[in-house]
Amino acid sequence: MRKGLGSGVYGSILDLVGGTPLLRLGRVERFFRLEGVELYGKLEMFNPGGSVKDRIGLYMLMDARSRGLVEEGAVIIEPTAGNTGVGLALGAIHYGFRLVAVMPSKMSLEKELILRAYGAYVIRTPTAVPPESPLSYYRVAEAVRNLLWMIGGRPGEGEVRKVVEKVQTLVREERVEDLRSVLESSVEPTPYAYIPNQYSNPANPRAHEETTGREIWMQTGGRVDVVYAGMGTGGTITGVARYLKRAKPSVRIVGVDPEGSIYSLVKKGMSPREAARHARPYKVEGIGEDFIPSTIDLSLVDEVVVVTDQQAFSMARMLARLEGVLAGGSSGAALYAAVKHIKTGGVRGVAVVILPDTGRNYINKLYNDRWMRENGFSTRDEEVLGELL
Ligand code: PMP
Repeated sequence: MRKGLGSGVYGSILDLVGGTPLLRLGRVERFFRLEGVELYGKLEMFNPGGSVKDRIGLYMLMDARSRGLVEEGAVIIEPTAGNTGVGLALGAIHYGFRLVAVMPSKMSLEKELILRAYGAYVIRTPTAVPPESPLSYYRVAEAVRNLLWMIGGRPGEGEVRKVVEKVQTLVREERVEDLRSVLESSVEPTPYAYIPNQYSNPANPRAHEETTGREIWMQTGGRVDVVYAGMGTGGTITGVARYLKRAKPSVRIVGVDPEGSIYSLVKKGMSPREAARHARPYKVEGIGEDFIPSTIDLSLVDEVVVVTDQQAFSMARMLARLEGVLAGGSSGAALYAAVKHIKTGGVRGVAVVILPDTGRNYINKLYNDRWMRENGFSTRDEEVLGELL
């Protein structure tokens, strides 16, 4: 902080990442008649990029810099549901990197436009393809990286744009063989193209262990008894669980899984391969997977609650009206799971539910009644949520 300035004055947008508020959801408690529980929401939309993923965007870039994996002027490429892209964009601006975000087509247009507003390139990929397909967003990110490595040194702006356009064309025209040959070509790595890869990067769960988990501990004065969190990469739940279970072994960690994802099946003992055969598309963004990333430690997750798109969306819409908290569909899923688990599991004490991102990302989706109806969802939220009363 500069001399002569008051508190609440910062030197960089990155200084505003983390330290999010914990809000008592008293109206939710009363509406759903929760007894003997203090329910708190961890408001991750208060991060400057609007989501919990600002934390890992920053951590993964700090880690890559400190290990010499990237040089100034590097292109950061990341497969992302959008929010990690925003977190990386903030870090990229600060550290002098460029960013290519690779996003499945199901993710909202708002998130794409926000990324472009921060100066990022965006490539869209098909949603319903297995992770090993050359058209999956994971593999497409690798194709971009390989093409940038082929350039050799630091790619110029025109070269980056050309690579992005080329890959977007290959994806749009489903030129699987061309993509495969880029993926299989042996190229010399350079420090000018780097995929942090939130699905395998230990800096992802570490960010949550050192920040999110610690914050929950401090903010509840160690009184926290149970935490509810959605699972995408699993970085949030794993990091939070590591910190809290070390501090207080009795803390219960409840994972939230959208219907169609494989986490609940694998937690029940099914092999990931077998579970992948049961994977189905769903609409809620940012949570659920069709494979098990190395960033999740399912042994730290005590229970998994499955939530449908309808339940998630109705609960997010209800949260906005009850508390004035405008959050995304994964927040609705987490809150739905929390209320259900508290009511059916006889939970007592201090419960924290992680609300990962802002509803502004979805204003033209779950907050648009027409979109809801066109996608076969009811807009009668109280009726849908009546099953919890
Ligand atoms: N909700 C939203 C909206 C997200 O973007 C993500 C990240 N994919 C999550 C929840 C899940 O977080 P994590 O990857 O840490 O499991």
